[in-house]
Amino acid sequence: MNIIDIINKKRLGEVLTKEEIDFFIDGVMNSSIADYQVSSLLMAICLNGMIDEEIFNLTDAMIRSGDTIDLSSIDAITIDKHSTGGVGDKVTLVLAPLLASLGFCVAKMSGRGLGHTGGTIDKLEAIKGYNVELSEEDFLKQVNDIHIAVISQTGNLAPADKKLYALRDVTGTVESIPLIAASIMSKKIASGSKYIILDVKVGNGALMKNIDDAKKLAETMKAIGAHYGRTVICVLTNMDEPLGYAIGNGLEVYEALNSLNLKGPKDLNTIVLNMAAMALKSFKDISFEEAVLKAKENLINKQALNKFQELVSAQGGDINNICISDKKIEIRSCEAGYIKSINALKLGEYAKLLGAGRTKKEDIIDYGVGIVLNKKVGDYITNDELLLTIYYNDETNLEFVKNNISNLFELKKDKVEPEKLILDIIY
Ligand code: URA
Repeated sequence: MNIIDIINKKRLGEVLTKEEIDFFIDGVMNSSIADYQVSSLLMAICLNGMIDEEIFNLTDAMIRSGDTIDLSSIDAITIDKHSTGGVGDKVTLVLAPLLASLGFCVAKMSGRGLGHTGGTIDKLEAIKGYNVELSEEDFLKQVNDIHIAVISQTGNLAPADKKLYALRDVTGTVESIPLIAASIMSKKIASGSKYIILDVKVGNGALMKNIDDAKKLAETMKAIGAHYGRTVICVLTNMDEPLGYAIGNGLEVYEALNSLNLKGPKDLNTIVLNMAAMALKSFKDISFEEAVLKAKENLINKQALNKFQELVSAQGGDINNICISDKKIEIRSCEAGYIKSINALKLGEYAKLLGAGRTKKEDIIDYGVGIVLNKKVGDYITNDELLLTIYYNDETNLEFVKNNISNLFELKKDKVEPEKLILDIIY
């Protein structure tokens, strides 16, 4: 078997066998296949797709490339949550403690930000002292003791995905349904939870730009889960504008805390309640309406907030010490009108330019910087009213961001309806 034949086969749109896919992933892991050949096959997959059987085989080979976590010692329903990535996406910070307060065991391994999207681990590290690296033994003990742990993905969990993702990120091969499905599900299956709830983001700030592709991705991930005896729920949510008002690590933790204190943004609250209710409905056999009430109750009685505080202190963090820069600039609107659209993708990139994200994996990020919006789609803004606040430290890109950021907002004279948030639920 050789890689050139495999590349040619996929270039012609043919179906790869299990042996060929195993050969590819083995070659990625032992570096016997050069990066340019790996990239070439990734591009052929991107262009010609894969049938379900190939996607299952790819996912399986990626799982077998590393360790799997055994959660059988955990004495409750284990649940994991993942997002396909968005701008201002702090759902995990609110949903994970809420689920734990509702009786689920949340054994969550999260990633760092990549591209214009943020990552939960970077956000948690904005809390002074929060330790994202626990041994497997300590991780399992914490999940058993307090029903929640959120740590960084261990080095050897689906390591083939790490190598492939790094190449995809720089070769224009991220946006492929088979590759995204295998990437996400290999990590989720290897992490061991029986139940998996996925936030599939759709829109300008997301990897899936339209609802049909998002549905296809959701169905594919659900089928992979079923193949491994896991239950998968996908909630398809709008990412045409950032989620909530805050973009940037410390700023997002602060907004998540507000949400847990019932003072958070409506869109974040809606997604959290829908996802929590779907988990309760599916796994505890109650109606959706009952489930929403139960989830709301644990926000109102502060059980979810207490759980978040318990999580942070168990992992060494100081909840009263969140990194937020005290250098800020206010940007005011130069015109009046209804906000018609906000370019989430570009805002994510601008936050990255301020230092909130990485351009290269080795980059050191600034947890305290970012952007806080004052208006969302559908809101009216008057001339000279506050549009947003930029939090900064390093001034390298500040002038550029300051001078161009208003262009990311489109205003209209006529009233604009806010966009639909929950686009579909697939389970
Ligand atoms: N998130 C992942 O973990 N993998 C992808 O390929 C895309 C989003």
